[in-house]
Amino acid sequence: MKLRDSDQLHGKCGACEFRNICGGSRARAYAVTGDVMAEEPCCIYEPRGYHPDANQKDTSSPGCEAHNLIQVEVAHS
Ligand code: SF4
Repeated sequence: MKLRDSDQLHGKCGACEFRNICGGSRARAYAVTGDVMAEEPCCIYEPRGYHPDANQKDTSSPGCEAHNLIQVEVAHS
């Protein structure tokens, strides 16, 4: 199954030395980017040796939009 195949992770999750024990939230990646295999948008860890070049870097990255949405919902509840 694709979700369990850490070799198919994109971005920094795909380059991360912890991808086999972490892998990031697939639900959050999908909710924020529409790509279930995208990098975890809320992870602050920078994998060793991972330096996205201009072609890899997504300048439209939503950052931690999921957390922002959750905070807005909680503030209004
Ligand atoms: S969420 Fe962070 S720690 Fe986990 S695999 Fe992705 S980059 Fe690595």
